[in-house]
Amino acid sequence: MQWLLKDKNYYILTTNQDTQFEKVFPIEKISAIQGDWKYLQCNRRCHDKLYDSVELLHKINAEIDVALKIPTEMGPHCPHCGAELEPWVRSRVFLEGKKYKEEHQKLSDFLRKNMNKKVLFLELGVGRMTPMFIQEP
Ligand SMILES: [Zn+2]
Repeated sequence: MQWLLKDKNYYILTTNQDTQFEKVFPIEKISAIQGDWKYLQCNRRCHDKLYDSVELLHKINAEIDVALKIPTEMGPHCPHCGAELEPWVRSRVFLEGKKYKEEHQKLSDFLRKNMNKKVLFLELGVGRMTPMFIQEP
């Protein structure tokens, strides 16, 4: 796909949460509007900060024992309220704070900048689970 978009004015809106687009395309050209597994959030949404999960998950992975358990104290907790941290991905407690708004703003900026041009909307692999994010608008 990268070669196909070379020298093109493009933008990627994705409901994927797996960071795969970031491996190929610049992050400023991507809006991951359903969250991203590389971040953690307070499951009580007590504050609007996301925490990097990658380093933590490597540490936890190294501590998995033969029974496939980790020490309880390694479970990540919110430094403000003590609630569990959970992946920042669409759920009933999904944090729609600063980062979420930034992702939408990047898309809006691209669309506004190109509103008087011919725009091709190419939708790939989007199912009917969450049509309200890409298909319906
Ligand atoms: Zn909290």
